[in-house]
Amino acid sequence: MPNSQPNPACRNFVLRTPDDDNRDRLVCSECGWIHYENPRIIVSAVVRHGDQLLLCRRAIRPRYGFWTLPGGFLEIGETPEDGARREVSEEAGADVQIRQLLSIYSVPRIGHVHLVYLADMITPDFACGTESLEVRLFDQVSSRLPWDDLAFPVNQWTLRDYLSLQGSELQQPFTTRPDDLRQRISPVEHHPEFPPPCAGSGGRAS
Ligand SMILES: [Zn+2]
Repeated sequence: MPNSQPNPACRNFVLRTPDDDNRDRLVCSECGWIHYENPRIIVSAVVRHGDQLLLCRRAIRPRYGFWTLPGGFLEIGETPEDGARREVSEEAGADVQIRQLLSIYSVPRIGHVHLVYLADMITPDFACGTESLEVRLFDQVSSRLPWDDLAFPVNQWTLRDYLSLQGSELQQPFTTRPDDLRQRISPVEHHPEFPPPCAGSGGRAS
């Protein structure tokens, strides 16, 4: 890849296949800068405290008011582990130790790759970050988890796969099942009991 930073002066892009490439890209017709579009990496964590795990109720759209694992887009300059730790700190106010990679879920249709880590809270403290309405510990048993109020399919896959371990050691990371990819996010923008304020932000998927 000859260039990775956008040139703010570039305005006139044409769709063409660059030399030594095999698919169309947006190429600046003046300086030749190539706008590569690649999948985005989302990092999150199953955060454990004893027999409980930490979930956040989203204060951002889409899926405002639904429960999610703390997570978000990996930033440039971060390792995935650092990114997961940062997201847990920002959204759930908890300091965690990352233990191991729990799963890699890819959603090619929207160009997302999720890396989910197993993590443990270093202290019992947590707090509501600006992107959360509520942060809570849930018992690690299926009947106590808010399945119907989860924000995204990937939250369901994560909790399903994590619970399937039943406390045993993880041998290798879970991956997306073919059936999982048939699941579609509900078009509901917010939880029926949590209407967002009118002047809400655009939100970020996580
Ligand atoms: Zn240019």
